[in-house]
Amino acid sequence: MNEALPFHLASIGEDEIESVVETLRSGWLTTGARVRQFEERFAERVGAEFGVALNSCTAALHLALEAVGLEEGDEVIVPTMTFAATAEVVTYFKARPVLVDVRPDTLNLDAEGVEAAITGRTRAVIPVHFAGHPCEMDPILEVARRHGLAVVEDAAHAFPARYRGREIGTIGDITCFSFYPTKPITTGEGGMATTQNRAWSDRIRSMSLHGLSRDAWNRYGARGSWRYDIAEAGYKYNMTDVAAAIGLPQLDKADALWARRKDLAARYRAGLQGIPGLELPVVAEDVDPAWHLFVVRVDPQALPGGRDELVERLAADGIGTSVHFIPLHLHEYYRKTLGVRPEDLPHATEAFERILSLPLYPAMRDHDIDRVVDVVRKHLQPQSMQPAADVAATRSATR
Ligand SMILES: *Cc1c(COP(=O)(O)O)cnc(C)c1O
Repeated sequence: MNEALPFHLASIGEDEIESVVETLRSGWLTTGARVRQFEERFAERVGAEFGVALNSCTAALHLALEAVGLEEGDEVIVPTMTFAATAEVVTYFKARPVLVDVRPDTLNLDAEGVEAAITGRTRAVIPVHFAGHPCEMDPILEVARRHGLAVVEDAAHAFPARYRGREIGTIGDITCFSFYPTKPITTGEGGMATTQNRAWSDRIRSMSLHGLSRDAWNRYGARGSWRYDIAEAGYKYNMTDVAAAIGLPQLDKADALWARRKDLAARYRAGLQGIPGLELPVVAEDVDPAWHLFVVRVDPQALPGGRDELVERLAADGIGTSVHFIPLHLHEYYRKTLGVRPEDLPHATEAFERILSLPLYPAMRDHDIDRVVDVVRKHLQPQSMQPAADVAATRSATR
């Protein structure tokens, strides 16, 4: 059998290794100069006024909702096609995540879905840029402004990405990014909140370090003081300099990594075109997606066990895949607490039967993509159905 092709590998090189070693040798491990630099340069790259580095995107989402004033009993609109974190943070406040269905094409939430879910208790909406494909932010912002809702974006998949020429990270009230190892750039574990609003930025920063007064950050530094004041009961969500030491060289490479993702996605598209029973990801006209994930859809009739069977056959051929996501409304906790049924959110329920994430990361080589294409084709389009001349033509077109 061929060498295994994992679902994901982070692009970590000598730059990141040297940067971490240098940080360890410096003796300063916790939040310090490297975190400051990472925040400034990240904010500059997306064009945001402020960036606050945190130890996860989950922490960023939590503190973003805290900063905009979410309270017990409030409602927050969340698409069901997302990871646990997006809705979980709402429950931290004893507030209610209101799960909405997604568009059948991009699997993103849209303005109509948001508007239909608004009640007198709705305080905020969390658009998730699924797979790195930006949501239709202008119509969503219009609805949110009209109803006085805060817009906190879950951009865990969407760095870098553009919507109508604007960078994700500059559009909603607060945008939250993830630096988990599978995400477009990594710090091991980490996250970032960007905003144009100084008060929110200050609040997130303070609450990420026990609610201490601002100058407490540098209290062990040369110019720091031992004196601090506890302004609020906060949390322990700060990023370490060790993590930022990974993030800085990752940030330098972000545009090159993005370009490579786009090339690989285009190669998948060319190679997978026209395979019966396989749908390719839809891209809206006015966006430049991050291509965090390449999510195809498998017709349940295309092979006996549908998508699940294809997952197993690809694994047997050494190819790692995943499914993003099991929609939140199909999980026990949300079924029980929200009383939501599969048929209430039909697009996501139906998509879940079909979606499959193929490996897509900058460390993949062109021939890795071709191998995945060949194996998918082998299982969905048995040789008997495919004239030999077509096989040759497809190969020359994709190599
Ligand atoms: C990964 C992910 C998160 C959480 O990111 P962490 O940095 O692991 O906290 C949030 N939302 C979505 C959509 C994600 O995929």
